Amino acid sequence: MRSHDPGHMSTTPLASFPPVEEWDDWMEYDAAAWPKKVERKYMLVPTTCFNCEAACGLMAYVDKATMKIQRLEGNPHHPGSRGKNCAKGPATINQINDPERILYPMKRVGPRGSGQFERTNWDEVLETFAARIRRALLEDRHNEIMYHVGRPGDDGFMLRVLQSWGLDAHNSHTNVCSAAARLGYTLWSGADRPSPDHENAKFILLLSSHLETGHYFIPHAQRIVEGQARGAKMCVIDVRLSNTATRADWWLAPWPGTEAMLLLAFAHVILQERLYDRVFLEQWVNWREFLAAMCPDAEVTFDRFIEELVSHYAFATPEAAEVECGVPAQTIREVAVEIGRAGHGLASHVWRNAASGNLGGWQVARCLQLLSVLTGAVGTRGGTNLNTDNKFVPPPFLKPAPQNVWNELLYPLEYPLAHHELSFLLPHMLLSGRGRLDTYFTRVYNPVWTNPDGLLWEKVLLDESLIGLHAALTPVWNETAQYADYVLPMGNAAERHDLMSQETHAAKWISFRQPVLRVAHDRLGNLTGHTWETNPGEVWEEDEFWIELSWRIDPDGTLGIRKHYESPYRAGEKVTIDEYYRWIFENSVPGLPAEAERSGLTPMGYMRKFGAFLVESDAYEGHLAPLDADKLDGSTTRDDGTICRDDAPIGVMVGGGDGQACVGFNTPSRRMEIYSATLADWGWTQDTLPGYIRSHIHRDRMDPDAGEYVLIPTFRLPTLIHTRSANAKWLYELSNTNPVWIHPEDAERIGVQTTDLIRIATRIGHFVNKVWVTEGMRPGVLACSHHLGRWRLNDTTPTDRWASAKVERVEIAPGEFRFRRVEGIRPYKSADPDSGRIWWTDGGVHQNLTFPVQPDPISGMHCWHQQVTATPARSDDHYGDVVVDTNKSMAVYQEWLALTKPAPGPDGLRRPLWFARVARPTPEAYTVK
Ligand code: SF4
Repeated sequence: MRSHDPGHMSTTPLASFPPVEEWDDWMEYDAAAWPKKVERKYMLVPTTCFNCEAACGLMAYVDKATMKIQRLEGNPHHPGSRGKNCAKGPATINQINDPERILYPMKRVGPRGSGQFERTNWDEVLETFAARIRRALLEDRHNEIMYHVGRPGDDGFMLRVLQSWGLDAHNSHTNVCSAAARLGYTLWSGADRPSPDHENAKFILLLSSHLETGHYFIPHAQRIVEGQARGAKMCVIDVRLSNTATRADWWLAPWPGTEAMLLLAFAHVILQERLYDRVFLEQWVNWREFLAAMCPDAEVTFDRFIEELVSHYAFATPEAAEVECGVPAQTIREVAVEIGRAGHGLASHVWRNAASGNLGGWQVARCLQLLSVLTGAVGTRGGTNLNTDNKFVPPPFLKPAPQNVWNELLYPLEYPLAHHELSFLLPHMLLSGRGRLDTYFTRVYNPVWTNPDGLLWEKVLLDESLIGLHAALTPVWNETAQYADYVLPMGNAAERHDLMSQETHAAKWISFRQPVLRVAHDRLGNLTGHTWETNPGEVWEEDEFWIELSWRIDPDGTLGIRKHYESPYRAGEKVTIDEYYRWIFENSVPGLPAEAERSGLTPMGYMRKFGAFLVESDAYEGHLAPLDADKLDGSTTRDDGTICRDDAPIGVMVGGGDGQACVGFNTPSRRMEIYSATLADWGWTQDTLPGYIRSHIHRDRMDPDAGEYVLIPTFRLPTLIHTRSANAKWLYELSNTNPVWIHPEDAERIGVQTTDLIRIATRIGHFVNKVWVTEGMRPGVLACSHHLGRWRLNDTTPTDRWASAKVERVEIAPGEFRFRRVEGIRPYKSADPDSGRIWWTDGGVHQNLTFPVQPDPISGMHCWHQQVTATPARSDDHYGDVVVDTNKSMAVYQEWLALTKPAPGPDGLRRPLWFARVARPTPEAYTVK
């Protein structure tokens, strides 16, 4: 089932890489001195990329003469990335050397948003925030403190901090990202993400562009290529001809929002052709609950379940799907048969894409997982694992108790099943009088630019009665940081500590992010007190910042906070960052101490040297793991093999009465739940099975003759980061424009050609962009990539000038604003001579400000796709214009809010107890008082 094979060596070493024994003193000739042979000596220090969530390994080359980082490459000892990176990894060096980066903590001195800041120091920052937070805690204003993260980049450090303070304060970006797909997966198994084993697959089914940008991009892309080289076939479902689709055997471009119907048509064929895995279904699916709920009078047999399933999905014929989705029935049949024949070798993945675009998008993930369940490809070699079986999060010392408080600004009553916090509705809730914030931290988060309805974010960030004090923890200035009271510079990938793991393939690993220069100085015996002492300027890292802040909030320990920051090695003294991670590596990572010893290192020394550790290889079929003997004590086993304690399922007996007691899946039934009693219990009786919900942008709602189209605004470019690539000059030299993709038929209907200007109008505003006419787009659908269209209002707190256009922001009518560019990207003087060589002028066009909030009533996910009107630009339109009428924002918010079915649910709960929650509160806090 699984083997334990700890170690650090990659299975596919690079053809050439400096040998480990030379990492402390590696010689290369200076390329810039060619043709002279000038020797340079380097120290190689591993770290972890911070430019997307894949956590690939990086190797920093520290010039020993200057003690500066010369460049970053891949780390061949990293089990996920295996020495490979995308363009964004090596571009970390741009971020380190960015001439416009924030080097010191800054404090606002003028009115909010005026761009007037002065340098302050870390001591003043810590004292200010510690006093404020301590007062809020003493006055029982716990819900007035909030931490809001964009890019997490760690596995739980902040959750521990917030719980140690007794707060329900963790907000994230997940509901503008992946919450819908996560809900779809959770309903099946309790695990919220897939972990496809692409490398060993026979058939790869993607609703995502993994070969260029997908979630866990580089770790997945290399394994997809390997899988294809071994003969795997691939189908990509995407309305846009992505680079990934060009490498597929089948590119299917359904009408956006109909993807679930297409997937059900595959299921229909698999059922009709009896290509399903009968043994897996009978053992592991909650078919008895299905029968009890769907046809209570039926005989409870597996054959009857199959009959009912066939009958239930009889509507999803390939012919019906052709009509609904616009994909030929013959092609649907062909792909479905290939999926069925792949059996346990079906690797599948959806990330964002259709799940994050549509009303009911969570059902896309649920229908995709239905195919894995039907074929029995759950956790198998070449199949699709659960993330919980391939991600490894080692716990630190002294876990804080769960907070006994519930923050309705995070999880409002209207969204009891939302997979994550309703983060993008925070301004709407504050403006509706549902709370206020005393102290607000944003961390690597730029909601004014990233979130829909960004001008409402601007509005609340400017209002000191709604947000008392705002600190932006960020490596760079951006559209949000300019409205903060404090701007606190935090390190990039080579300037901070974090520990990460991701479900990149059928294994478990950890990766250590390190402040490279601190480690290099330590190796030379120059020990450092704090990370900011070796980083550029006084750039710090969050880990040390939060330890210091927590200590100052509770200096005498009376609030019960301080004990969580006392060293596990030196009683009563403040923990150092070395000790924090040392304890984890010595106590929480199986196999690491032994492997370190074999290498003649301590566990901490091992991680400092290699940067990553493979905890387990070949991690498949976690549901077959044996149930702990102590859990079996006092348990009973039902006739159907369900093992129960106090009448609650805790596992499943496999192979009859004398068989193996297994943990099963993390659902109430311990089986995979095709029928969701949870959805029924919470009022969504029409949605209890994997199904098809017509999207808010269904084509019945569109009138092309009136210029109405669907806009897909979510596709990524492989070379840019959501809002953090503006400080990476190489990346903007590669990608600096985002025209609207239009099919030739639509271009003709609208009357535009490539490079013409087009006005795209949404319900609350419009933007003006250029046109790119391409047959790589489905007719009737427009697309525009995000990342681009960065702006700056001034040059004192500017979004980096490699990427931003200077704009004028004018209130053209009460509550209606226009952003118009007054200056494109142009060369400028700085410490980096390359800034004088900028040749590009565009920078692209922003779109998200013009999108109203559209929260899915079940998953809480913002449904990104937009119903728009596309017309040629008017004579007074300018390229890059963005116009928003904020008077309309709240009305759209209220419309979507009206679709919800608020808590309380069964037993007066705010949310099902079995659903995961970030920083989970006490069970008592789940009850609506
Ligand atoms: S895929 Fe690229 S950006 Fe993401 S972690 Fe890997 S190297 Fe960094």
